[in-house]
Amino acid sequence: KTSIRLDKMLGNLGYGTRSGIKLLIKQGAVTVNGVVVKDHGKQIRPTEDEVVLDGEVIRYRDTVYVMLHKPAGVISATEDHRDRTVIDLLDEEISVFSPFPVGRLDKDTEGLLLITNDGKLSHELLSPRKHVPKTYRALVAGAVGDEDGAAFSKGVELDDGYVTMPAQLRVLATAEAGEAESTIAASDKENGDEMMAVLRHEPEDVSSIPQKTLSWIELTIHEGKFHQVKRMFEAVGKKVLYLRRVSMGPLKLDPELKPGEWRELTDEETESLH
Ligand code: URA
Repeated sequence: KTSIRLDKMLGNLGYGTRSGIKLLIKQGAVTVNGVVVKDHGKQIRPTEDEVVLDGEVIRYRDTVYVMLHKPAGVISATEDHRDRTVIDLLDEEISVFSPFPVGRLDKDTEGLLLITNDGKLSHELLSPRKHVPKTYRALVAGAVGDEDGAAFSKGVELDDGYVTMPAQLRVLATAEAGEAESTIAASDKENGDEMMAVLRHEPEDVSSIPQKTLSWIELTIHEGKFHQVKRMFEAVGKKVLYLRRVSMGPLKLDPELKPGEWRELTDEETESLH
């Protein structure tokens, strides 16, 4: 959808109550592309049509920036004939701007996804020359250790022969899976609690994996190859069971957002990206 009702647009901008706006329009106070419009339901394309109220050009903003906590199970695309997309999770007041996700997260990956209609910004954030850092937290089967950190900081060879750029690994917590309860050793309480929450949320393979030890890690990469994090762990013989992106450049996933929730960026966040 790329248009919005005239009364809704003015309402979103705070020009009055529904009935107040309806009356203004009826009285002929509004022109669209130079023509008086008295139909309050007229469809407006906010990035193309010029709306004037009492002689004042209404600048409906022409860019939107949304932070989504992408949930598992939705596709990072604007359209899909089978699955729900990340755009389907937004409201009409955002989707009228034809926004798209900046890059992709796998269907089963959760976490920070920036959604915007700012093509220039998207291009810059994704440019392979800019090396914008992206940080992920992952639940990995097995004991992730110093040798994995050393391998990632040098670069590992993926299944297609590509050698990754230096990446930074931190082990935040490990768990020994027991019969009833798992015991967790963590660098601090917050990381331990976070790992426990991920274990409770039970990524489907957790119960069927042979390893007794699981690791909750953080990895920062400076490029974005297809399935990169999963394939980097495959390169060191380990399997990612759950993956969440927590930051992209200066933008951090808002801990208040649950999977599936979103909000517009604050002005400070938008500025930090430019
Ligand atoms: N790396 C992956 O393997 N998957 C993602 O979704 C993002 C980074």
